[in-house]
Amino acid sequence: MAKIWVEMRFWFTLTGAAFDYQGSIWTGEMASIQITTQIGCRNSCDYCPQDLLIEANRKTDGSLIMTFDTFKTCVKKIPLQVAIWFAGMCEPWSNPKCTKMLLYAHEQGHGIGVFTTLVGMSTADLDLLQLVPFQFFRIHLPSKSGIESIKISDNYLRCLGKVISNGIPVTFHCHDQVVPEVVSILDQNGYRAELRSLYRRAGNISVSGRLKAGKRRGAIACQRRSRSNVLLPNGDVLLCSNDYGMKHTLGNLLETSYESLFTGSEFQKIQRGQTDESLDVLCRYCDNFAYDLDAYASLQNWSYHIDRFLYYPRRIRSWEDALQLLGKVRFVVRNASRSIFKGK
Ligand code: SF4
Ligand code: SF4
Repeated sequence: MAKIWVEMRFWFTLTGAAFDYQGSIWTGEMASIQITTQIGCRNSCDYCPQDLLIEANRKTDGSLIMTFDTFKTCVKKIPLQVAIWFAGMCEPWSNPKCTKMLLYAHEQGHGIGVFTTLVGMSTADLDLLQLVPFQFFRIHLPSKSGIESIKISDNYLRCLGKVISNGIPVTFHCHDQVVPEVVSILDQNGYRAELRSLYRRAGNISVSGRLKAGKRRGAIACQRRSRSNVLLPNGDVLLCSNDYGMKHTLGNLLETSYESLFTGSEFQKIQRGQTDESLDVLCRYCDNFAYDLDAYASLQNWSYHIDRFLYYPRRIRSWEDALQLLGKVRFVVRNASRSIFKGK
């Protein structure tokens, strides 16, 4: 009985995350480094704690833009099995050297992933990128409600058309209804944007419609094994893309090796903090990748689970969304039952 309870809670926790991150959870995601090419993002999305990042950056050496030399030095230290994702805490193409950096990392042999709004990109960039075998190329679209400051310029629309036509395996997502001009381009080309949840970024913002969840209790873990870290323009490496306040700096890749990021005291503290709830680590507030390891934790962290389920209906805009959600729930239930009853 206890086993069934633990298993059910485990799968229950993952159900919510599966809705957004199904591809990465079930397969055990490989390690990655997310590149923050610049401090400060011109898109100023309402739900992004940019002010916190800018404030925290003032307490460092204040570097704002990653130079190509810094990028190159850091990438040389990163093992090839670690993917390089152009994502992090800023629109990557805010930095004019972004395409050059991406091509360099690809030439070295790293897997490459992209999260972008297309802002700052040109069709010439997309021509250069079309032969890269991306792990993913996710485009965050502007909302009709204006919660992002993404300008729908002629260049933006040209890039959108180009990224669709040049064979890059793109997916689209949004956090509200998408602006009509963009919807019509997607429709004409048979694409659809997935509506994604907004997260509190481990307590760094509050999100309307979501419960205020406190500190997670009990034994928890990270679906990404705390191995999707963020490289900043000055070479510092942060725990993850929730760490806008720079609470956990693992080390500086200009000064140390990649491996030492995970043997240093900060990483050790984070690992201890995932089992010892008296330690104050960011994971204790994480609402997108943290999950409970046992029934005791699940019971105490009920508000996180209820929050996910209360938030689901907001994501259903059409029968297609409902079918997609049902498909994912079916997937989770099937895997849960296999897991619970295997060997019985
Ligand atoms: S585009 Fe991304 S990094 Fe930039 S403000 Fe929006 S959510 Fe934050
Ligand atoms: S805050 Fe969340 S995403 Fe970041 S390391 Fe902790 S559990 Fe993972």
